[in-house]
Amino acid sequence: MASLNPYDLYDLNSLLSEEERMIRDSVARFVDERAMPVIAEHFDNATFPMDLIPELADLGLLGSSLQGYGCAGLNAVSYGLICQELERCDSGLRSFVSVQSSLCMYPIYAYGSDEQKDRWLPSMAKGETIGCFGLTESQGGSDPGNLKTYARRDGGDWLVNGSKMWITNGNLADIAIVWARTEEGIMGFVLEKGMPGFEARRIKSKMSLRASVTSELYFDNVRVPEANRLPNVVGLKGPLGCLTQARYGITWGPIGAAIACLDEVLRYTSDRVLFDRPLAANQAIQIRLADMARRITAAQLISLHLGRLKEAGKMQPAQVSLAKWNNVRMALDIARDCRDMLGGAGITTEHQAIRHMLNLESVITYEGTETVHQLVIGRELTGINAF
Ligand SMILES: Cc1cc2nc3c(=O)[nH]c(=O)nc-3n(C[C@H](O)[C@H](O)[C@H](O)COP(=O)(O)OP(=O)(O)OC[C@H]3O[C@@H](n4cnc5c(N)ncnc54)[C@H](O)[C@@H]3O)c2cc1C
Repeated sequence: MASLNPYDLYDLNSLLSEEERMIRDSVARFVDERAMPVIAEHFDNATFPMDLIPELADLGLLGSSLQGYGCAGLNAVSYGLICQELERCDSGLRSFVSVQSSLCMYPIYAYGSDEQKDRWLPSMAKGETIGCFGLTESQGGSDPGNLKTYARRDGGDWLVNGSKMWITNGNLADIAIVWARTEEGIMGFVLEKGMPGFEARRIKSKMSLRASVTSELYFDNVRVPEANRLPNVVGLKGPLGCLTQARYGITWGPIGAAIACLDEVLRYTSDRVLFDRPLAANQAIQIRLADMARRITAAQLISLHLGRLKEAGKMQPAQVSLAKWNNVRMALDIARDCRDMLGGAGITTEHQAIRHMLNLESVITYEGTETVHQLVIGRELTGINAF
């Protein structure tokens, strides 16, 4: 009897096209050779591995789902596999690519003018222009309809006032997609680094996503030309449309984190001898390992099917909510359990589990908290909005 792949018990590999497997394997190689060796140090030092950006771009991972403008035009499952492999290394690395691709390049692509697309997308695909996405404000990310940042017309320009909180890539970014209230509804603006009155301040003392830059953005009468307003969307559906793209990718990422933790703990429990036998020989340990494999397999099936629905143009936001809730919860529980099985060795970043565990505390909060996604499904089931 052929033995199963412990990280792919249902042989989902066989459901991928040759191109999808090739993309996954090339990102996996990059992760193993270039990102894994440096990530723990970046996490310890709270720095983002900037020198990997050109390599991410060369591999076609920035804006990989978009057509034209130097982007790879990949299908949804390929984008998911990219997120999975990047997060096998670190949620911070995957967050960088998610924000650049789904939250910055996508809104310019979907809601921008031809001039805006020509101006920003090719350099963003090359990693020469870095973006961030400003929706959340200090008064409550779960309630984005309550945003206070305001843009008012002033001659041919706009004056933007307000602030944003918890913005990934904020201090790295050359441009920020900022969602602001206007007299005509919520609109998106592209703010550029160096515009007078626009400031990014890095959030320090984070215990999670340490290898990712998170910032507050401040806007004090920032003069923004009309040419920097995204002309083709008004209302909350603009930012929410971007979030659906990003959340889809996020459903795949934690599968990578969970696989990394399982891989580490399988090796550790086989080598570690306690009471004269490998730790892995204990029933209690095997049951925990089996439970991890069960939950990873379910998450893989959910994300692969969700990807195929997306490719067929049938993916619904509530389906994304279910997948984000299930898959992030799965990975967070697995990372915590792996941390425990490593004993004392599990509390330093020499092993991966605690880094993934801490990172996933952010992933379960951002892009809609677990509760928010549960309420989206509750609304789908009952027709009653309980927010
Ligand atoms: C590391 C990191 C990176 C981020 N990157 C970005 C970014 O790039 N751009 C961006 O715009 N935002 C970003 N965010 C913000 C993120 O999306 C918000 O943190 C998230 O939406 C939650 O908002 P909040 O932190 O204000 O919590 P709150 O909305 O204040 O929620 C607090 C708690 O209340 C619960 N809750 C909320 N509503 C209800 C309800 N109706 N019933 C019951 N419970 C409820 C929540 O589930 C949560 O447990 C990031 C956050 C983090 C931590």
